Amino acid sequence: MVYASQVISSAPLADDAALQKSAEQAVGKGGAKAGLTAEGIPVYRDSISGGEVYDAGFRNFLTMCWLQGKGKVEGEEGQYKVVVLRQEAEQNRVLTVKMAGDGASMKDKSDCLDGAFQAGWVKNEGSVVHSTQLAQWLDPAAIASSAVDLNIKLIKWRLVPELVPENIQGLKFLMLGSGTLGCSIARNLLGWGVRHITFLDSGVVNYSNPVRQSLFTHSDAKLKRPKAVAAAERARDVMPDLQGDVVELEIPMPGHPHSYKQENVDRLKQLIAEHDVVCMLTDSRESRWLPSLLVAEATMDSKGKGKTGPLAVTVALGFDSFVVMTHSCGSAKRACYFCNDVSAPTDSIKERTLDKQCTVVRPGVSGWSAAVAVELVASLSQHPDRWEAKPKAGESILGEVPDQIRGYLSNYRLAPMETEPFAHCVCCSQSIMETYRRDGNDFLKRVMENNSILEEVSGLNGMKQKVDDAIGDLELDEEDEDLCLL
Ligand code: ATP
Ligand code: ZN
Ligand code: MG
Repeated sequence: MVYASQVISSAPLADDAALQKSAEQAVGKGGAKAGLTAEGIPVYRDSISGGEVYDAGFRNFLTMCWLQGKGKVEGEEGQYKVVVLRQEAEQNRVLTVKMAGDGASMKDKSDCLDGAFQAGWVKNEGSVVHSTQLAQWLDPAAIASSAVDLNIKLIKWRLVPELVPENIQGLKFLMLGSGTLGCSIARNLLGWGVRHITFLDSGVVNYSNPVRQSLFTHSDAKLKRPKAVAAAERARDVMPDLQGDVVELEIPMPGHPHSYKQENVDRLKQLIAEHDVVCMLTDSRESRWLPSLLVAEATMDSKGKGKTGPLAVTVALGFDSFVVMTHSCGSAKRACYFCNDVSAPTDSIKERTLDKQCTVVRPGVSGWSAAVAVELVASLSQHPDRWEAKPKAGESILGEVPDQIRGYLSNYRLAPMETEPFAHCVCCSQSIMETYRRDGNDFLKRVMENNSILEEVSGLNGMKQKVDDAIGDLELDEEDEDLCLL
């Protein structure tokens, strides 16, 4: 094979009227791509309109001349004379090309002719030629990666020119819970081309899971594979260049004294600090308390003022309804998952019959809520105020950015809402935060052992007492039956 070719002279063909005529005859009008003049000079019909750059086929043409010895200049080692015809006759050229190399001896690029010309390629300042990485067109994973990005770029090119895909694609997501919601949200994030998802879970895949938890299969259940491991692996099967990290850990829960482990609290804190979006997707109230507290702590300074940290997103399901909410972040004050509650989270499994331990949800609700949650994050990612965007701050280029969205399947209704934090919240209120900052892990340990101290510390008990005193024995609904968790 010719390893390199170099044009050593190039002149307008118009200077040689006879050669011009015989070259045109050699290829015929609009006919062949290449031919030979009566004098034996090779002629090439180039698709490039002018200059010293030639189309990609020219390289093959030169190789053919070299292999067959056509156009060889007598007495000049490795030199060939060829004619190049173009659309505009004044752009026609007659070239002398020097070629070197054969397959056996010229494998090393250092053997390349100095300043070598390669057909169809443009010379670079200071180097031989522009080079291109062909690997990306040969590796299926790389092809998939750019095809995914192309899908998103099409949104930008065709419909929303101001879209900045990197604002969502570059985010790091932490999935706290890799069950029904974790799987659905991850699938939707892959659709946006998100490359970094960390899956956390303490459970294994059960037989009932695969039909609703879209990253698992029956064989995962047979093997009782850890959910975080199986979810990450299956997500990578869908998108090979996903960085799918795995954390097998039980989140400590109020009312579950044995769930408290110092190293798990530390790990959780570290994970929250390393991610941009923290998704609360477990299936009990109490498992969401610690991560909600840690995010609140990361987004609020000691004076109760906002500082930017990760965005917390909570998704919770009822039989035919859901809520998607974003928590406070920086200057944006919003209700957290516990702001609506009038009791502290406790062990929700204990003393429940089996049918009460499994929640009963219409299958479509999880997919619907997951899609809404991901699209809300996508919209926030495009807003100039990002995680601090409040609904009043105006729309993002993808539309509204409500603090909370409730969905009702029975009448196919979505209700966007603006929210405020609750002063006596058992999770994000100032007094809870102050106590946590003062007592640190001691406070957490006490809460895991005795969840009722949350009602005391937050001032919720005092508030309930005041209400009782004012209007008699008020029955407060301790549990939102509408929004049981999956
Ligand atoms: P189903 O409810 O259909 O029986 P499931 O309970 O296995 O399924 P989901 O309810 O869909 O799964 O998802 C909740 C996920 O949250 C589960 O995978 C569960 O293991 C995980 N989870 C719950 N509590 C914790 C916790 N404290 N720490 C870590 N992961 C948790
Ligand atoms: Zn709150
Ligand atoms: Mg469950």
